[in-house]
Amino acid sequence: MTDKFASRAVVGRFAPSPTGPLHIGSLVTAVGSYCLARQAGGRWLLRIEDLDRPRVVPGADAVILSTLDGFGLHWDGEVLYQSRRSARYEEALETLRRRGLVFDCACSRKEVLASAPHAGEEGPVYPGTCRHGLAEGRRPRALRVRVPEEMVCFSDGVFGPVQQCLASAVGDFVLRRADGLFAYQLAVVVDDADSGVTQVVRGTDLLGSTARQVYLHSCLGTSVPQYVHLPLALSAAGEKISKRHGGLACPAPSQAAATLCRVFDFLGQQPAAELRDGTVEEILAWGVANFSCERVPRQASVFVDLPG
Ligand code: GLU
Repeated sequence: MTDKFASRAVVGRFAPSPTGPLHIGSLVTAVGSYCLARQAGGRWLLRIEDLDRPRVVPGADAVILSTLDGFGLHWDGEVLYQSRRSARYEEALETLRRRGLVFDCACSRKEVLASAPHAGEEGPVYPGTCRHGLAEGRRPRALRVRVPEEMVCFSDGVFGPVQQCLASAVGDFVLRRADGLFAYQLAVVVDDADSGVTQVVRGTDLLGSTARQVYLHSCLGTSVPQYVHLPLALSAAGEKISKRHGGLACPAPSQAAATLCRVFDFLGQQPAAELRDGTVEEILAWGVANFSCERVPRQASVFVDLPG
């Protein structure tokens, strides 16, 4: 991996949504992105994705921060909060508006569903109803970006070459929702660009969003980061790990070390047996020196044994 990034200093990031404490699934992403950034001698940033106010749990950000600390995952610089960056998202929308790339849309979710030509990867494909202007008497609700018919291509550090035709897979997508909230797709691109992020490591649940983000970078004229998607942790019952499987808040050091080893096992990294008695610092240092994307299972998800 390292050679590919030789031309620009690596900046990685971890961007949790503060909807609850950190759990083993999110720790997998944090550890993977930390190891890859540090292995390249790069910076590792932390961003709290708290735009979706109704889903934010008060105090969850502080718990996430102290949990990361407990696992030895120390970030560089100030923590960025998306909720404080509305002016930047507004500016980015203005840039896109000037370039003729966005349009007002009056459609309700129900209307999109009813008139969608077919289901895309994430629900109905927007049928283009308001693309050429609002019909008489219609009130603008959301703001959408026009997508081209061409394939958007990128290379993922684990999954290799990926391509997606946005027009047939998602259609013109929302950048500002009808409730006024900036969409995740917009915020993530503006933030990654503003922070100089060159390496995005996250779960495979966002692999399907990546082409949209690559496209938005091209619309805004910002550099596309390298993407690495790691498998999602599933419980033995096959469910995505979530809050109800228990958080990892402030682990005792011995527990943190054992959990880190399990994370490396999960990511196919095969930590040496003697490492299992090591400290958090030793295990992480091993991960930084040895983490390899080649060993990560090329799977959307992997089962993980949950304690208790
Ligand atoms: N905030 C997202 C999450 O917690 C991650 C977004 C990203 O890494 O791009 O799933």
